[in-house]
Amino acid sequence: MKVAVIGAGAAGMLAAGHAGELGHSVDIFEKNNIVGKKIRITGKGRCNITNASDCEEHIENTPGNPYFMYSALYKFPPDRMIELVESLGVPTKVERGKRVFPVSDKAADVSEALKKYMKKNGVKLHLEKGVNDIITENNKIKGIVTDDGKELDFDAVIVATGGLSYPTTGSTGDGYKFAKKAGHSVSKLMPSLVPLKSDDWICPELMGLSLKNSAIVIKNEKGKTIYKDFGEMLFTHFGVSGPMVLSASRHLLGRFNENITMYIDMKPALDMKALDNRLLRDFEKYINKDLRNALNDILPQKMIPVIIRLSGIDETKKIHDITKEERKRMEELIKGLPVHITGTAGFDMAVVTSGGVNTDEIDPSTMESRKIKGLFFAGEVIDVDAYTGGFNLQIAFSTGYTAAEGLEESK
Ligand SMILES: Cc1cc2nc3c(=O)[nH]c(=O)nc-3n(C[C@H](O)[C@H](O)[C@H](O)COP(=O)(O)OP(=O)(O)OC[C@H]3O[C@@H](n4cnc5c(N)ncnc54)[C@H](O)[C@@H]3O)c2cc1C
Repeated sequence: MKVAVIGAGAAGMLAAGHAGELGHSVDIFEKNNIVGKKIRITGKGRCNITNASDCEEHIENTPGNPYFMYSALYKFPPDRMIELVESLGVPTKVERGKRVFPVSDKAADVSEALKKYMKKNGVKLHLEKGVNDIITENNKIKGIVTDDGKELDFDAVIVATGGLSYPTTGSTGDGYKFAKKAGHSVSKLMPSLVPLKSDDWICPELMGLSLKNSAIVIKNEKGKTIYKDFGEMLFTHFGVSGPMVLSASRHLLGRFNENITMYIDMKPALDMKALDNRLLRDFEKYINKDLRNALNDILPQKMIPVIIRLSGIDETKKIHDITKEERKRMEELIKGLPVHITGTAGFDMAVVTSGGVNTDEIDPSTMESRKIKGLFFAGEVIDVDAYTGGFNLQIAFSTGYTAAEGLEESK
């Protein structure tokens, strides 16, 4: 078959390479001047390629339409992806949480390996060649229109244009436009795995402070717990970020009208009683000091004025004058510092897009459109999204592979 792949990201390159391997004639169109621009910034430039867990665990880590992924994940599971990149000259290693990275710690190596995979299988790569439209006729794909207005005929088209997150990498949502034109519905698009915004003065005050081994509980105005986690987070000038916060954001989608508050427990290993004993010991040590000079052993420097101000105690008050009730107020803040959450930092800073081309309208075992014969979707453009840990790239790889396999069935 004569196949066009739109977008040389993770999904597109896997689809093109595998389609070439299966003997199809493949052209891939990428609007950037390099392939895999987003891959290069994944995993903080190290690329968390996949997660070395089984397909079931991948499904469990996919809150957005997990069951759609069954067939694709079993067709091309994580260990096949690891085998593929290794066969292309990129040895891998497994880190905490079964996260898989290239040994080189260079995300660009993964991108270049996929480019090599395409070349090896005879794929024709067209860089700086955006696709502006798809052409359909009698519910069948006919071809594409490139940015320079050229109409090109193809037997099949695989849309792998990504989502809306980090649009500077080229993912500007063009695939949704193509899908809608073909009669597909696109579910609500929301930024996910994204830093959270706050209107609390404490965030800019604490900007740059990262908390390790802390816990968070996120509640709505009715006091209902929406999410709980333990790990690492960071204060930014506009709110909060870091691994724990990005994961939390997936659980807050569409809920920001519920007046959300995040409570940070800076001493999760101590219960209230143990924390009180600990503070009493510190207070004995600093009995004649001002309060502002007595909390260095228990709190990060930047946090001390914030806790004192929130507890409403004069920072120059001597430790021997601090009342039990004042101590309690501080302890409650140490174990539950409230941060009012107003929304997300948006698509510009989101790791993935939640929402996309409706999964009911795509055959999960071939990725072919149920509306237009010969039209396929792969990667983030589809309404599937997962947590951090390498699960999102695996979605792109598995759906890309499945789309290439699906070409045969579409004949
Ligand atoms: C900062 C960051 C870090 C991340 N880290 C990880 C990680 O470590 N592990 C993980 O699993 N996931 C990670 N992700 C998520 C992961 O990168 C995406 O889920 C994945 O790249 C999606 O692949 P894709 O091929 O569907 O889309 P993309 O990678 O976005 O590729 C789409 C491609 O299509 C091209 N394109 C778009 N429209 C057109 C058009 N009209 N014509 C031609 N070309 C077009 C774009 O230029 C782009 O190259 C991260 C994301 C971000 C933003």
